[in-house]
Amino acid sequence: MAKFIFVAGGVMSGVGKGIATASIGAILKSKGFRVSAIKIDPYLNMDAGTMNPVEHGEVFVTDDGTECDQDIGNYERFLDRNLSTINYLTNGRVYHAVIEKERQLGYNGETVEVGVHVPEEIISRIKNVAVHDKADFVLVEIGGTVGDYQNMLFLEAGRLMKLASSNDVLFMLVTYLPVPRMLGEMKTKPTQHAVRALNSVGISPDFIIARSEALVDAPRKRKISIFCNVAPENVISSPDVSSVYDIPVQFEEDQLGNRILKKFRMKERSKDMKEWRKLSAKTKGKNPEIVIGVVGKYIVSGDFALPDSYISVVEAVRHASWAKNRTPRILWFSAEEYEKKGTALKSLHRDLKQCDCVIVPGGFGERGTEGKIRAISYCRVNKIPYLGLCFGMQLAIIEYARNVCGIARATSREFSKTGDLVIDVMEDQKALLETKKYGATMRLGSYMCSLQKGSLVWKLYNKQSAVQERHRHRYEFNNAYKEILEAKGVVFSGANTERNLVEIMEIPSHPFFVGTQFHPELLSRPFHPHPLFTGLVDAALKRKKKH
Ligand code: GLN
Repeated sequence: MAKFIFVAGGVMSGVGKGIATASIGAILKSKGFRVSAIKIDPYLNMDAGTMNPVEHGEVFVTDDGTECDQDIGNYERFLDRNLSTINYLTNGRVYHAVIEKERQLGYNGETVEVGVHVPEEIISRIKNVAVHDKADFVLVEIGGTVGDYQNMLFLEAGRLMKLASSNDVLFMLVTYLPVPRMLGEMKTKPTQHAVRALNSVGISPDFIIARSEALVDAPRKRKISIFCNVAPENVISSPDVSSVYDIPVQFEEDQLGNRILKKFRMKERSKDMKEWRKLSAKTKGKNPEIVIGVVGKYIVSGDFALPDSYISVVEAVRHASWAKNRTPRILWFSAEEYEKKGTALKSLHRDLKQCDCVIVPGGFGERGTEGKIRAISYCRVNKIPYLGLCFGMQLAIIEYARNVCGIARATSREFSKTGDLVIDVMEDQKALLETKKYGATMRLGSYMCSLQKGSLVWKLYNKQSAVQERHRHRYEFNNAYKEILEAKGVVFSGANTERNLVEIMEIPSHPFFVGTQFHPELLSRPFHPHPLFTGLVDAALKRKKKH
């Protein structure tokens, strides 16, 4: 029988519940257990695919093509395993399933009740993950904070699971302990209130993860213990750290792993936090720096909120840099700066000349595209190592078509009906767009990409003939322009042969210029950096040495 650990949040959102959940998973895995995880987003959306990145942060994509919350990405990175659609729940998904079942007479004529059948559906989905993922532990992160209306039925499902099988279920509450400046003292009261809110729906936490600026000291742990009805050793201190990869190690300072096992009357099967300690040391910034420029769109107010929208790109850059014993410094640039009349060139020069390499990540819509194209042009001409991810490949092709092949009106169908559509809509997408079928209809998830022997990417991928990579796009390279671009020096070194789609472009006369239609960042893991990112870092280091 699997064990289930529910992780809820109190006090406020945004204190790192997802990373806390992922870290608990990493610890249990290091103790020899098979761990899976579920992210619950309490909104009505069926998935994260239709949400604006400013609203929601990055949309992560799994192998099976589920567009989901970025926490699924955190789980995959920390657990080093692939997850799928069953690991992601929303109210929309649950209600949709209940209503479908009702329409098919699945409830045998019963009245279908929100308070009964909805939690029942949630419970069956949670239990299914344990079976499907062959897990010893299933972590269930409930989005939002306790006291919200939206997540009530998920908490209710957890309560019912514990009622039915109290030795197999435990609850953690991730709270926040503020240190108001005028007091200079860490306050536990908001945590006490959060626990009361949880109590009011019939749940007592077994653990409290106390997020705060600093370590939580013994007197405060005692206070939380007394007022929140939790053993003092089960109040886990979680101070701010410089990297999320410190958190598993940090939790182990308070022996969280063994305390969880003790609650379940289990013993650790192995003990190996060595890798995590090593990784945590690498994040400390003692290695020489490497500067990575990211030219994107959602960065209008400095670098505020941006790291969220591109979190997998940031993580992939970090993994690759650490693997090469470098400390990454990411500089965020807003593409729209490079569209301003008169100052564009100066800004480009000022920004990009500091960079050892540049990335243009995925994106949608026309805003900022001309600026991105200018940045790409700057990298191509000045031989700055460049990696274009999805939209970053499409724009690199437009740039090359315009500036090298002389196709002045080269553009994408995404923002123009006329001109030379070097990027066009995929055939099967046309009808979907016309009938407004936007949800979960892009080319999503893992597809095969054949590699051209002898190419740069073929070497980077360890000379494999084909690889699997994850996708999220509606538009593609228009093969009608293939010969023209090839004649001028582009090599299309990756392709999906089944559908004749270009997957990778590179420019061999440039030290490192690679664009991918897929999103390699989604597969990068702290202990397995992605070869295209390590390739980029290597090229950046070479350039740095030369200059
Ligand atoms: N907007 C482009 C497309 O839909 C690129 C998508 C992306 O970058 N993920 O094809």
